[in-house]
Amino acid sequence: MKILNTLTKQKEEFVPLEPGKVSMYVCGPTVYGLIHIGNARPMVFFDTVRRYFLYKGYDVNFVSNFTDVDDKIIKKANEEGVDSSVISERYIEECRKDMKSMNVMEATTHPKATEEIGGMIEMIQTLIDKGFAYKAEDGTVYYRTRKFPYYGKLSHKNLDDLRSGNRSILVTGEDQKEDPLDFVLWKPKKEGEPSWSSPWCDGRPGWHIECSVMSKKYLGEQIDIHGGGEDLIFPHHENEIAQSEGVSGKEFSRYWMHNAFLNIDGRKMAKSDGNFFTVRDILEKYEGRVLRLFLLSAHYRSPLNYNSELMDAAKNSMERLINCESNLEYLLKNAHDGADDGDQTLIAEAKKSREQFEKAMDDDLNTADALAAVYELVRHINSSVSEKSSKTLVWALKKELDDLTGLLGLDLSARTAAEGDITDEEIEALIAKRQEAKKAKDYAGADAVRDELKARGIVLEDTREGVKWKRV
Ligand code: AMP
Ligand code: ZN
Repeated sequence: MKILNTLTKQKEEFVPLEPGKVSMYVCGPTVYGLIHIGNARPMVFFDTVRRYFLYKGYDVNFVSNFTDVDDKIIKKANEEGVDSSVISERYIEECRKDMKSMNVMEATTHPKATEEIGGMIEMIQTLIDKGFAYKAEDGTVYYRTRKFPYYGKLSHKNLDDLRSGNRSILVTGEDQKEDPLDFVLWKPKKEGEPSWSSPWCDGRPGWHIECSVMSKKYLGEQIDIHGGGEDLIFPHHENEIAQSEGVSGKEFSRYWMHNAFLNIDGRKMAKSDGNFFTVRDILEKYEGRVLRLFLLSAHYRSPLNYNSELMDAAKNSMERLINCESNLEYLLKNAHDGADDGDQTLIAEAKKSREQFEKAMDDDLNTADALAAVYELVRHINSSVSEKSSKTLVWALKKELDDLTGLLGLDLSARTAAEGDITDEEIEALIAKRQEAKKAKDYAGADAVRDELKARGIVLEDTREGVKWKRV
């Protein structure tokens, strides 16, 4: 399996630190509002990476944090006149709901920054003791980037250009850094902000230190994969490397993976720019699995532009998958036992889609090509099965479809009814009533049932295999 490693800019064969195990850390959201669909992209993508490793038989330890102390959270708390933990807890809860809607699995550990302050103080102290950090007069602690010889290795940036670009900070004396690229590890308390006591001053941590601390605590000094959106490469991940490797003297993460942006009108979707849709906005119109399918429809390193046409296309694709699954379920009920001549050929053909799927995923987790393999499988299934098919065939094809879609986290079960929606059982009962009416030549009665179902968003289709229905 090959992964494009941001560190080397090469596709590299994945070799875990420990055979059979994968440790992954993915930077999570800052919780000051509902997450937008840009934030959802790394969540869905790295969840898919995790599922694929599980499929390959690895034991996966997956850690993703919640940043619950930050300027934006504090600002919102002050606006509402509540403690900042009220804001962060509220949006952690909402974020979890959104993740569930998109079928993102719970992380093995989901730490919160405010619960890890002790570990952060300890790591900062170690960095000071080793000469990688210094305390300024006002109590701020900075990381000394010049001391870390590999600073810039992840972002492949020209540090001298960056330094001169930021020199104004030192010239204007706005802070007490030794070098423009030095960054804050600990900052003094300000009025109206949450704070913790430390050996340097009462205050709170800078943003970057939390990930180094949580990653070390829950996964160890070295990890296999570190992920996040590409905006995190510099400075966040560069700084994480400087901190973690400054402390351990060992390579922090073996592979670094970064997803490209979800854009809108060609620009990065961002809360600060106001050009965003929350996951909740999208869920008003589409199911979570449609959003998930949309997010996986492009390779993770390609920008993905949001628009409603693409969402509608994802909805149609999802319906095709669900209909294929429902048809297989329907056929399975009546399929005859045993196998027919030709079944093995059809099953072997379906297995080719699995090979294509694996080939795509093994090549740097190409979910776009993996989905193409799934669509090919659906075409094959639709042209291979009928009510005359054997159980062996229907079962085998259904297993292929379930396995591959399951790997992408796409649930194909008939939609679970939302409150007020007609349930599957009610639909089946009404269809049976319509069949009875038809049998009794009560065509007006049969039509009345069809109309009632239609009014409740259910469309019937009389096919050779019987009556099928779908929600529209
Ligand atoms: P934040 O809450 O801004 O720290 O973002 C949480 C995660 O979402 C990070 O991995 C970001 O890189 C990622 N992210 C934010 N905006 C986008 C976007 N428009 N497209 C893709 N990923 C994004
Ligand atoms: Zn991070």
